Amino acid sequence: KGLKKYFPVSGGFLNRTVNHVKAVDDISFTINKGDAFGLVGESGSGKSTTGRTLLRLTDKTAGEVIYKDRDIFSLSKGEMRTLRTDMQIIFQDPYSSLNPRIRVGDAIGEAVLDHGLASKAEIRERVLEIMSVCGLAPHHIDRFPHEFSGGQRQRIGIARALILSPDFIVADEPVSALDVSIQAQIINLFSDLRDQKNLTYLFISHDLSVVEHLCNRIGVMYLGSLMELAPRDELFANPLHPYTRALLSAIPIPDPEIRRERIVLTGDIPSPVDPPSGCKFHTRCPFAKQVCKEAVPEYRNVGGEHYVACHLV
Ligand code: SF4
Ligand code: MG
Repeated sequence: KGLKKYFPVSGGFLNRTVNHVKAVDDISFTINKGDAFGLVGESGSGKSTTGRTLLRLTDKTAGEVIYKDRDIFSLSKGEMRTLRTDMQIIFQDPYSSLNPRIRVGDAIGEAVLDHGLASKAEIRERVLEIMSVCGLAPHHIDRFPHEFSGGQRQRIGIARALILSPDFIVADEPVSALDVSIQAQIINLFSDLRDQKNLTYLFISHDLSVVEHLCNRIGVMYLGSLMELAPRDELFANPLHPYTRALLSAIPIPDPEIRRERIVLTGDIPSPVDPPSGCKFHTRCPFAKQVCKEAVPEYRNVGGEHYVACHLV
C-alpha cells in the first residue's frame, strides 16, 4: 500500500545536492493467495526493487507491505527470521548465487541446516525429494555447479528456494538468461510447482509473452509507477494503457491472418532521478496531449479487476 523506495544519489562533481532515484514511487496492489502475479516492464521500471521490498530484503521509504495480515516492516528481527522461511526469491542467474566449490546437494540443503531443522540424513532425503520435484536426477546431488546447463542451474535455484516449503516466491526474471526452448520448460516447472505446492508467485519479467502462460494477473510498471493491472485474459484482450499496448504489439504473432495494432516505442526509459512531469510516459507516448504533461493521471478502477492510470481512458 502506497509503497515507495527511493535511493539517494549524489548530484556529482562539486554538487552537494542529494537527488533520489525513485525506483518505486507510490504503488499499491494485492497479490492473492494462489496467484501467479506477473510484474512486467522494461529494465529500470522498478520491478526488482518492488520484489525485494516485498520480502524486506531492502528497507522501504514509505508505505506498507502486508503479508498474511501483518506489516512485515513492523516485525522484529526474530519474527522476520521465522518469516524468511516462508518467502523466497529466485534470481535471473542462479549461477552467481551458487558457490562453485560447493556440491549442489549441499547448496540446496544449506538453508535447512542453517535453520537447524533436521539431521544430515533427513536433509539428504529432503534434498533428493525436492531435486526430483524440480526435474534433477538423484546422481546430480554430488556434482558441482559448473557441470550444469543454464536450465539445470535454474532448476537448482528453484530447488534451493523450495527446500524450506515457502508459501510465497518472488521470481526475478528467472528465465530471461535462458534459450527460448528452455524457457518454456522452466515456466512449465513453475506452473506445476504452483499446483503441487500451493505456491503464490510474484513473477518478474520484461517480457509479456513470458508471463502470458503462467500468470493469472498482471501488473505493468513504468518508471516506478503501476500503469495498468488486470487479470491476464482481460489484459491481453482489452489492454487500455498505451504502454501496455506498445509492449503487446512487440510480441510477434505466428498467425499472419491475425493483425494487431503496432505501437513502436522509441527512445529509452527516462531517468528515474528526474522523471517526466504529469504522466511519466508522456515523452514516449504516441497519444500524449497537453494535459499529460501537466497532470498525473489517477490510477483507478475501470471495472471488474482492471486498473489503469491514463488520461485517455
Ligand atoms: Fe499517454 Fe497521456 Fe495516457 Fe500518459 S496519460 S499514457 S501520456 S495518453
Ligand atoms: Mg530487474
